[in-house]
Amino acid sequence: MGKTASAAHPDSPQCVLPSCGNHVERWGQPCQDCRTAFGPRLRPTYVPAMTREQIAERDRDVERVLALRRQVRADHPATDDPPRPRRRSA
Ligand SMILES: [Zn+2]
Repeated sequence: MGKTASAAHPDSPQCVLPSCGNHVERWGQPCQDCRTAFGPRLRPTYVPAMTREQIAERDRDVERVLALRRQVRADHPATDDPPRPRRRSA
């Protein structure tokens, strides 16, 4: 998923699944990679397809959390050192 995101114009419709980014023909559609990956778990719906604005609204909070996590990781890089036991005072 997400492999072809850079191939099309940034305003082109993108896959409806969160964090995918593959381009599709119309807003609200899943891409072929997601159809393949999720198989029968990805079922058609009878409600109107989500619009670009609805998708952006749905994903806004998750994108904020992911950006915050990336920032925390950048500020506090992980090390391979095992945690040290605390010394007892007494
Ligand atoms: Zn997709």
